[in-house]
Amino acid sequence: MQKLVIASSNSGKLREIRHLLEPLGIEVLPQSAFNVPEAEEPYCTFVENALAKARHASKLCGWPALADDSGICVDALNGGPGIYSARYAGEPRSDERNNQKLVEVLRDQPDRKAHYYCIITLVRHADDPQPIIADGAWHGEIILEPRGKGGFGYDPYFFLPGLGKTAAELPMEQKNRISHRGKALARLVESIKEETF
Ligand code: IMP
Repeated sequence: MQKLVIASSNSGKLREIRHLLEPLGIEVLPQSAFNVPEAEEPYCTFVENALAKARHASKLCGWPALADDSGICVDALNGGPGIYSARYAGEPRSDERNNQKLVEVLRDQPDRKAHYYCIITLVRHADDPQPIIADGAWHGEIILEPRGKGGFGYDPYFFLPGLGKTAAELPMEQKNRISHRGKALARLVESIKEETF
């Protein structure tokens, strides 16, 4: 069985990735199983940070490694908070303070279009010159009052005009199917089927 380490300790992500990759004969383990410390994310793009995380995990485990990076990008903020989404309102990280800050910044802004973005990188070894890369975007707009109790992060404020709901009002399976991460994972599975790894 092919082995793959996931550069994340988020159990929800691990479950979702395992569910998709195990049928392809890929055994998936989190980097916590190898006591890998979190990697630095010093870059200004999602792709560079995801690659840094994957290379770090692969180097320390000796296995192929997969890492993702994601965030919310608001048009009126030139794509911000982007790679800073998790710590938009500073440390310690807080979804509630991040959301408050976003709403305040956008309160008088008529154009509140935004999208979630997710990128997934897979390296066969730490110096792999040709990583497998898949991404996905999910378009919507920021509303000023929260709606819904599901999801996490910015979901109660991320409104999908086509559905008339926020991401926090969607059942988890529906969100996983249509979200930025769902799209990126689906593309990753297609690439893995096509490319040797
Ligand atoms: P990470 O890539 O899991 O570290 O996510 C970065 C940050 O982006 C999270 O902490 C959230 O603030 C935001 N984010 C990414 N994906 C989602 C999502 O599906 N819903 C809500 N917030 C998200």
